[in-house]
Amino acid sequence: MAVASKSDLYRHQVEKISKLSFDVGVYRPPSEGGSASLLLRVTENCPWNKCTFCEMYKGHKFVYRPVEDIKADIDTIRAMVDEIREVSLKLGQEGRPNRDVYQALLSVDPFLNENYCFSNVFSWLYYGGKTVFLQDADSMIMRPAEFIEVLQHLRKELPGVTRVTSYTRSKTLAQRKQEELTAIREAGLDRIHVGLETGDDEILKIVRKGVTSAEQIDGGKKAMAAGFQLSEYWMPDLGGRER
Ligand code: SF4
Repeated sequence: MAVASKSDLYRHQVEKISKLSFDVGVYRPPSEGGSASLLLRVTENCPWNKCTFCEMYKGHKFVYRPVEDIKADIDTIRAMVDEIREVSLKLGQEGRPNRDVYQALLSVDPFLNENYCFSNVFSWLYYGGKTVFLQDADSMIMRPAEFIEVLQHLRKELPGVTRVTSYTRSKTLAQRKQEELTAIREAGLDRIHVGLETGDDEILKIVRKGVTSAEQIDGGKKAMAAGFQLSEYWMPDLGGRER
């Protein structure tokens, strides 16, 4: 008669986890680093993609992701969270995603170590499962009603999340109505990161930022009025000695 090993208790969960994947990109701000934030793409790459100094998404076409696909990815993350917790419970770890759970998962499927979706979710849970960063370069480019639907679904499925942040462009903020930004804020987006680079109109033109200083100010003011934490990135010496 075959003797059951301890890993047979949670083999089924590991097999499920190994098959789960969602769309995750590369870039996130430094404040979302250290593996503490869950990363999820709501769009892919940059809809502008013309700034002369930026290589982040060069050669990659912008993709506007369908809402149903993003929501399916959120459901996948939720399923992965549930399976990891189940393994933890079976190991007597009370649902905590600790080192013992990690080692147990890898003992069944060592390739999980190279699975970026799994690593992202496990690390995020390990550090408390609190913060989410929505990728890629300009999430506000989403139709407001669709972005709101995604945020509401995210908050419903991952109720332990306390902060959701994303990148956007000043130009896009300036194009949005005040009430649209307020509704997005209320749906659960807390902080936005914007590449200001410079407030000098001449340099903005030279680097093909696609925005004017007046639009930057307008977009920033609207974001603040909507209640967002606004993080603007300034690029010193962008104009060189001449400017
Ligand atoms: S808007 Fe941002 S991501 Fe897009 S090209 Fe410019 S710097 Fe790069």
